[in-house]
Amino acid sequence: MKAHEKRLLAKLFPDLYVETILDVPLDELMARGIRAFIIDLDNTTTHWNSNDLSTEVQEWFARLKELEMKACFLSNNREQRVMAVAASLDLPYVFRAQKPRRGGYRQAMEVMGSDLLSTAVIGDQIYTDILGGNRTGLYTILVKPIHTREFMGTKISRMFEGPVLWRIRRGN
Ligand SMILES: [Mg+2]
Repeated sequence: MKAHEKRLLAKLFPDLYVETILDVPLDELMARGIRAFIIDLDNTTTHWNSNDLSTEVQEWFARLKELEMKACFLSNNREQRVMAVAASLDLPYVFRAQKPRRGGYRQAMEVMGSDLLSTAVIGDQIYTDILGGNRTGLYTILVKPIHTREFMGTKISRMFEGPVLWRIRRGN
């Protein structure tokens, strides 16, 4: 593999890979100095384009608040949609974020008053959430998508994610 290919591949790798947002090890991350989360909406927090939050996910956000950890939604989706979920959890948000561009991640950190060392990204897509988080220099956590009713564009990017996920599972 060529050097530039290795560098690109490294940017697609999350620092942590867990099943769902509920499996994010909050205490462990606290111990590492993480105090704030930039969180994807569709298929990470809710089903695609749904405003419904499961009881477990609501409890997870309540736990964040108990721990005095901050959260900000970062979504490529439109404002009306992102605002509805963010408002129900009383959390800030950045919409039409154009992930994997770095601007939205920086904006979210500004909103939370956090920095590169104290912020982690949680998302279900390698080519948007994880790539953008790694490019920004943040700790990145990949979760499995809640389900697969998605845009065709997402389905296509999943095809490319397959081989990368295989390497992540294999552990290199
Ligand atoms: Mg997503």
